[in-house]
Amino acid sequence: MDDSTFLPYSRQHITQEDIDAVTEVLRSDWLTQGPAVPAFEDNLADYLGAREAVACSSGTAALHLAMLTLGLGPDDAVIVPSNTFVATANCACFMGADVLFADIDAATGLIDPAAVAALLEQDAEQKIKAIIPVHFAGQPADLPTLYDLANRHGAWLVDDACHALGAAYNDNGQRYAVGNNPHSDLTVFSFHPVKHIAMGEGGAVVTNHKDLADRLRLFRSHGIRRQEFADPEAAHSPDGIPNPWYYEMTDLGYNYRLTDLQAALGSSQLTRLRQSLTRRREIAAAYVDLLSRTFTDGLVQPLAVRPNIEHAYHLYVVSIAFERLGISRAAVMNRLRANGIGTQVHYIPVHLQPYYRGLETDNGRKLPQVETYYAGALSLPMYPELSFSDIKRVVSELEAALVSQRQPAYRS
Ligand SMILES: *Cc1c(COP(=O)(O)O)cnc(C)c1O
Repeated sequence: MDDSTFLPYSRQHITQEDIDAVTEVLRSDWLTQGPAVPAFEDNLADYLGAREAVACSSGTAALHLAMLTLGLGPDDAVIVPSNTFVATANCACFMGADVLFADIDAATGLIDPAAVAALLEQDAEQKIKAIIPVHFAGQPADLPTLYDLANRHGAWLVDDACHALGAAYNDNGQRYAVGNNPHSDLTVFSFHPVKHIAMGEGGAVVTNHKDLADRLRLFRSHGIRRQEFADPEAAHSPDGIPNPWYYEMTDLGYNYRLTDLQAALGSSQLTRLRQSLTRRREIAAAYVDLLSRTFTDGLVQPLAVRPNIEHAYHLYVVSIAFERLGISRAAVMNRLRANGIGTQVHYIPVHLQPYYRGLETDNGRKLPQVETYYAGALSLPMYPELSFSDIKRVVSELEAALVSQRQPAYRS
C-alpha cells in the first residue's frame, strides 16, 4: 500500500504558519517560560470565554495538577468512567486515592449519571471527593446532572475534556461551552497530536476560579512562589529592601511547564480550530448518511448523540455486531489496514487493566454496559483533512471487510 493513501484513525495537520510560529520562537531569546506560554493561555481562555487557563506539559500532567490543587489524598476516592484513557484514573492513584469505576451508557460511551448516583449512595463514609466525567469522543457528558450529584455529596467535578475542545451543550435554554460553564470546577485538555490542536505534548486546566488557577500554577512549577511569602523576614534585607534572589517552596510541586516552542505551535493551531470543528461535523454527517445507507440491517451503528449538544468529534466510533456477524474485530482491522484504512479501539475498559484488577479497591464490581460497548467499538478515521471520497472509501472498505468474512447465516 502506498503510504500517501493510508488513512490513519486520526492525525495532526501542520501548516507553513505553524512552522513559522515555532521558528520565530527558536530565533527569540526564550525557549521556555517566555511570552508564548501566557499568550497561549490567553488565547485558549478567550476562545472558551473562560477566566483562567493554565497550560502544562500534557493532559496527564493537567489531570495530576487538578488533583493536587483540590488536595486529594489517600483517605479519598474518585469516580471515573471505565471507558477512557488510563490517565483519567491514574491521576487519582498518583495521590494515593482510591478509584471507583462507574459504568457507562453503552449507546453513547459516556459515563452514566445513574451509576455515579449509585456509587455516591453507597459512600456512607463520604470518601468520594471528586468525579471525573470524560466527554468521550468529543460528546459532552451530562454535566448539569453530574455537577448536581457532586455538589450534593460535597465532591468536586473535574471534567476530562481531552476529546472535547470546542464542544458545547444547552441547559435550560442556555448554551455553555465545555471549559466555561457553571457545572464544573476544573476542565482538563490535552494537546497531543491526535487531539484537536497539536503541540507535540501539551495540556491545560481551565477554570473560572482564580484561587484554583493560582494553585495550579504553584504545583506546575515545583511549588515555588515568588510573592505572598510565608517568611517575610527572610524575603527582605535588614534595611527593608526585598531580596532579589529570594523564593519560597511552600508545597510539593513538579516541573509540568510547557515550553514556548509548544505554546507558539498551540496558538497557531488554535486560529484554525473553529473551521476544523466545522469540518469534523461535516465528516460525521457524511458518515451517518453513508453508514445508514450501506448497513441497512443495523449491524454497524454510529454511537448515539445526546440531544442539545454540540459534538467536537475527536473520534468517530461505530458499534459493530461482530459476534452476530461471526467475525473477529482483529480480522476486520487487519484487513482494513492492508487496504489502507487505519482503525483503533477506544477504549479497553480501564477497570479490566491488570494494574486496576490488582488493586481490588473496586471489589471486582461488574460493569456490564462498558463491556457490551467494548465488544463492538471501532474508531474510523476522523480528522479535518479527510475528503468526501476518503470517507466513501472507508465505508466501502468496511463493508467489504465485513461481507468477505461474515458467516453464511448473515448472507441470507
Ligand atoms: C489523551 C488523553 C489524556 C492524556 O493526555 P496526554 O496529553 O496524552 O497526557 C487523558 N484523558 C483522555 C480522555 C485522553 O484522551
